[in-house]
Amino acid sequence: PMSLSDPVKPHRICVCVRKRPLNKKELAKKEIDVVTIPGNGALLLHEPKQKVDLTKYLENQTFHFDYSFDEDATNDLVYRFTAKPLVKTIFEGGMATCFAYGQTGSGKTHTMGGDFSGKSQNSSKGIYALAAQDVFTLLRQKRYADMDLCPYVTFFEIYNGKVFDLLNKKAKLRVLEDEKQQVNVVGLQEVPVSSVDDVIKMIERGSACRTSGQTFANASSSRSHAVLQVILRRRNFLHGKFSLVDLAGNERGTDVSSNDRHTIVETAEINRSLLALKECIRSLGQNSEHIPFRMSKLTQVLRDSFIGENSRTCMIAMISPGMNSCEYTLNTLRYANRSF
Ligand code: ADP
Ligand code: MG
Repeated sequence: PMSLSDPVKPHRICVCVRKRPLNKKELAKKEIDVVTIPGNGALLLHEPKQKVDLTKYLENQTFHFDYSFDEDATNDLVYRFTAKPLVKTIFEGGMATCFAYGQTGSGKTHTMGGDFSGKSQNSSKGIYALAAQDVFTLLRQKRYADMDLCPYVTFFEIYNGKVFDLLNKKAKLRVLEDEKQQVNVVGLQEVPVSSVDDVIKMIERGSACRTSGQTFANASSSRSHAVLQVILRRRNFLHGKFSLVDLAGNERGTDVSSNDRHTIVETAEINRSLLALKECIRSLGQNSEHIPFRMSKLTQVLRDSFIGENSRTCMIAMISPGMNSCEYTLNTLRYANRSF
């Protein structure tokens, strides 16, 4: 069990890691768990004691994060220390962003969508629904109730540098930038919501749309970024925005074996966007003037989130604990470790 004190006052960038349990398939194959979470945000990647050739991997590497969550952590707990402290930001007129990063199958959608992603068997809410719950709780609080704030939801997918509206039959949308560098996704459905249930309906609708019409269950959804946004408007003007991003699987970055042109293009695009994201978050952390948001569609669309005094970001790096995932896990830990 983890010992965690209450979340500290959020800083601009919070980087966490979440380890999922070994799944049935991995247990059946007697996979070895190579990840330990000793506490205080540390994470240990082990060389297994069995005789396996793992010379490629350094033994017992330690990584440090703001928080490290082990396999016993619930979505509730993860939420409490990651996205929850950011909810207030959008009421104060700021931008908040929470990213789920990691290889396919590591738990990104489980963490973000939870029950409502239509895939998870256990009955817990994910960060989408938990954040929505807190937004509606705050909307009812006296200090915000008088502010005339109206909540809306958008849900879209970015695949191969193109934007598709998950709340409108995957309509392909154009992204335009005006002379003030304001980025606008033309025609994106912004659905007014008046309860958590309304938001959950949109999560379900969008998640179903995300995976529909695919031959392989996890095929293109693992290669696209999904963005759910909770937007607060005040007399129609944008007041605050919370973007919750289920990123494309990062394993493509190491997949150089493919000869398929389509896969190569896809891989290049995912790599570019994840690299761009890292650069933009780093710029945000350094209060840099220059934010390289044009490097990818993902960062371009999220431009708002990387600027401004009151922008906060949280990155949750998901990892699979099995030895066979070691290489991907190392990639993920390095990305999150070095990034910011
Ligand atoms: P990703 O979106 O990163 O590809 P998923 O969220 O779809 O991965 O997770 C893959 C599988 O593992 C799902 O069946 C999911 O329910 C399960 N899973 C992921 N994380 C956890 C966890 N922390 N606890 C229990 N099951 C999990
Ligand atoms: Mg997923």
